[in-house]
Amino acid sequence: MIQLESVDTLVIGSGPGGYVAAQRSAQLGMKTAVVERSQVGGVCTHVGCIPSKALIAESHRFQTHRQWNSAVGAATFDEAQSFKQAVVNKQSGGVQFLLKTAGVTFLQGDASFIDAHTVAVKQQDTEQRISFKNVILATGSRPIELAALPYGGRILSSTEALSLSKLPESLVVVGGGYIGIELGQMYAKFGTKVTILEGGEQVLPGFEADLVAPVVRQLSKDGVTVITDAKAAKVEQDADGLTLHYTKGQEQHSVRAEYALVTVGRRPNTDGELGLERIGLQVAARGLIETDEQCRTQVPHVYAIGDIRTGPALAHKASYEAKVAAEAIAGKPSIIDYKAIPLVVFSEPELSSVGLTETESKEKGIPAITGKSTFGINGRALALKETEGFVKIVADQSSGVILGAQIVGVEASSLISELALAIEMGATVEDMAMTIHPHPTLGEVMMEAAENAVRKMTINHKN
Ligand code: FAD
Repeated sequence: MIQLESVDTLVIGSGPGGYVAAQRSAQLGMKTAVVERSQVGGVCTHVGCIPSKALIAESHRFQTHRQWNSAVGAATFDEAQSFKQAVVNKQSGGVQFLLKTAGVTFLQGDASFIDAHTVAVKQQDTEQRISFKNVILATGSRPIELAALPYGGRILSSTEALSLSKLPESLVVVGGGYIGIELGQMYAKFGTKVTILEGGEQVLPGFEADLVAPVVRQLSKDGVTVITDAKAAKVEQDADGLTLHYTKGQEQHSVRAEYALVTVGRRPNTDGELGLERIGLQVAARGLIETDEQCRTQVPHVYAIGDIRTGPALAHKASYEAKVAAEAIAGKPSIIDYKAIPLVVFSEPELSSVGLTETESKEKGIPAITGKSTFGINGRALALKETEGFVKIVADQSSGVILGAQIVGVEASSLISELALAIEMGATVEDMAMTIHPHPTLGEVMMEAAENAVRKMTINHKN
């Protein structure tokens, strides 16, 4: 056993929560180390955001080539996988570089608590021990397994679905949340016959029905069969594929496919060898950790960020909390404020949302107006042949302060940042309508949605 020097901040996990926390902590002058049991960059870099977006981009290029009847060789899915791996390697190398230049000590191994100020880092037969003043837990999450559909063989989690070496002929996706929709549509664009089973009334639960409708229409154009109110019951695997039995209301059905992809949510890595019980840290419902607004747990020198902390499981949420936790340790007054956290689905068309929806503002008793404009009348969208979708802005009826926005359409993932900034800055729809947007750009749709809201305010004020 090797006893290492003590550090000011120890970070466990090197995903978008952990590596940002370690970098920020070191930048603030604290001696910092990060422990990682797998690969630098975490789920996001290796089996999450980055590989999924690389394959999605490749699937769009593949579909475009096919529509133009250009020669596409049989190796195209292989090439997409090689491209994805190159993107992942580059991103992971970038994270290593960031940690090195910030002066963070990197420790490879599985972290488990010995006591409230000491962690053992185990790798095969070696054990190192490191003591710390403060610790930031950033251990992330893993896919939830259904008892009726245990992972293995032809039943895949998102991790295996991102690494198939051969394009499957058919795939049944269990769970129509954002990961199921993104990966299902990606495979359909490559040519796989995809069926998506969703237990609720609509896919992408949590998004308003009018936003989801254009995505469902495109899924159908891509040849995807979407079945809602469908509950997976059991599966039979054989040499050629599997038969998945499901219920829809009182009826029993089955679907045949080469593989099943189960995407029914993620479970926080707060159990097992980590040993949170040895430092007296209680986990809340579903294994999540509750903290104060500085990410501090009930054990004052222990902080929790990212997927293990309550709130949506998103990479940018993890990185945001990382900065707050590191700054809190350095004695700064940083706190988390979630009024402008964007949610994005990288479907076609893309979908994004920030702040309050119209329904949420009603539920909160805030009188609100909405301003809307569509991509169908936007010159840039017409030139791109991307006319599906719209922008909706929700604003306080009397002051015009922007409360939220939802976008479905091309580049919704990038466009939403302007609205996140608007909410963050307390901007009104008039501010947005009077901001000069370059022509011809997709951004003009947001300006026009704001103008639409301003007109509604004027009408309301006249009445
Ligand atoms: P993670 O990224 O999970 O990293 C935790 C790290 O801790 C891991 O590397 C793990 O090995 C390590 N670790 C765990 N326990 C220990 C231990 N005891 N000792 C040492 N190391 C340990 N989010 C988005 O915002 N946008 C997207 O487009 C998006 N797409 C996604 C697509 C897929 C297919 C998936 C699965 C997820 C996606 N996400 C996306 C979610 C995103 O990946 C997570 O929210 C994000 O990675 C969480 O970051 P984190 O730092 O909390 O944890």
